[in-house]
Amino acid sequence: MGWLQVSRKDEEIRRLAAECRAKMEFTEDGRMKIGKLARDLGLKVIRNESLEDSPELQLKDTENGKFHYDGKQGFVIYDETRTTEQKEFTLAHEIGHYMLRHWETRDTLNWIIECIEMLKFINTEREADLFAEYLLGRCSPYVLESVEVKK
Ligand SMILES: [Zn+2]
Repeated sequence: MGWLQVSRKDEEIRRLAAECRAKMEFTEDGRMKIGKLARDLGLKVIRNESLEDSPELQLKDTENGKFHYDGKQGFVIYDETRTTEQKEFTLAHEIGHYMLRHWETRDTLNWIIECIEMLKFINTEREADLFAEYLLGRCSPYVLESVEVKK
């Protein structure tokens, strides 16, 4: 992927995160209602602990959260036992997978495609993290632009 494409992608991620930020509601003590945002976007937000009957959806020990799309409906699964900050980041990250339509590239089965998918997977994780940083306001455009200039 060329630098120009990467840079365009970053722009798209920033735009989508800004769109979501505009819809964000806050609690009285100023915390972002990220779960509410996810539901407002049409996602089902599910606690991992409530998935005893659906082991295929449960989080692995190494996972903080998961985005799942069943063809019609997007699901965000998170671990209730994590800290508030971890949960906020996880929800923001999983919303990123939804907003960036990452499920669309996950259904091809031949092995060559799977190798490419693996690379894409690594990239989609980076994109969702970047989205989360923007959504949570932890990544200033200035910092990103100065990185682009250096490159
Ligand atoms: Zn992810």
